[in-house]
Amino acid sequence: MIPFNKPFLTGNETKYIEQAVKSGKISGNGDFTQKCQRFFEDNYGIKKALLTTSCSDALEMCSMLIDCTQNDEIIVPSYTFVTSALAFVRQGAKIVFADSLPNHPNIDVSKLESLINSNTKAIVVVHYAGIAVDMDEVMRLADKYNLFVIEDAAQAIDSFYKGKPLGSIGHLAAFSFHETKNIISGEGGLLAVNDDRFIERAEIIWEKGTNRASFFRGEINKYGWVDTGSSFLPSEIIAAFLWAQLENIDVIQKRRVVIWDNYFEQLKQLISSRNITLPEIPDFSTNNGHMFYLVCNSLDERTRLIKTLKNSDILAVFHYLSLHKSEFHLKNNESVELPNADLFTDRLVRLPFYYELTNENQQKIIDIIVDFYKNEI
Ligand SMILES: *Cc1c(COP(=O)(O)O)cnc(C)c1O
Repeated sequence: MIPFNKPFLTGNETKYIEQAVKSGKISGNGDFTQKCQRFFEDNYGIKKALLTTSCSDALEMCSMLIDCTQNDEIIVPSYTFVTSALAFVRQGAKIVFADSLPNHPNIDVSKLESLINSNTKAIVVVHYAGIAVDMDEVMRLADKYNLFVIEDAAQAIDSFYKGKPLGSIGHLAAFSFHETKNIISGEGGLLAVNDDRFIERAEIIWEKGTNRASFFRGEINKYGWVDTGSSFLPSEIIAAFLWAQLENIDVIQKRRVVIWDNYFEQLKQLISSRNITLPEIPDFSTNNGHMFYLVCNSLDERTRLIKTLKNSDILAVFHYLSLHKSEFHLKNNESVELPNADLFTDRLVRLPFYYELTNENQQKIIDIIVDFYKNEI
């Protein structure tokens, strides 16, 4: 069986976990947490990084930090994971869903301005597959209308927009270390704060609404309840695991890009011969080898392709179902037409993609796909 995903272990995970356990400090914000956070600040131009228990949690922190309320509208792409929107719905906000580009799942920036009104408070962008959204234009609109920009950078570690690290451009950003991402800790995430105004409060929200982080640095002599928040910080056991991954990020990224390039080189013939769409990397973006997908000509074609692969013990999957059509959203909202989001919902298929995917197995997957399309008219 060739799985869709297989978590990669660098070898030091259990060693560092043992160190954390033996040190006697296993709650949050210890040495491993600090190391991981500094890694993001030093390498990815983030002003203040805070580890969280998930990307979803980091997004909830964003929602609290911008003081999102029921009077606010938040613009979110429809073709994304649930929590890109849910984090703001929990604070009572209304979500205004935006469509994808015709040729890429990323948000169609050219349509954004028409969605902005006097209630709009923030734009959430998702760098799908680690490919950058056109951030200059997003930031220009945010400036013009005085909005916050939150980057859902769950898939975007170690990827860049015009040389700037993704997750360092918006006012706030969220990363994920879920086991399906490039760098993992089982469950895990990180809040990136890039605007000074949010730094102090982010630490308080992170530490259950208290100024405990400041207390531990000796800045104040007692700590107490000063704001909203929750327990968003992971234990040192998680941070120790994550550190073993981050130490090896170059090796991991290099291999993933090789796998990506091999898929692209061997499947690109199908773009012209069979009209399928492969991931496009705009000039302004790098590729972090997060995932490889193809967009079929129809839902029926995709269903048959997934079945054909399954018959050879290969697990390819589709994922996001347009959020503007979700049961939960439609309970309280009018339906809207977002044809491109629906197109990716129906036709996008993700191929097996993980560090330890062997060349032989990758070749088997590619051969079956090429063969499948030989029989398609
Ligand atoms: C994975 C993912 C999330 C959720 O990350 P968790 O760490 O599982 O909470 C959110 N948004 C996007 C775009 C994702 O890919």
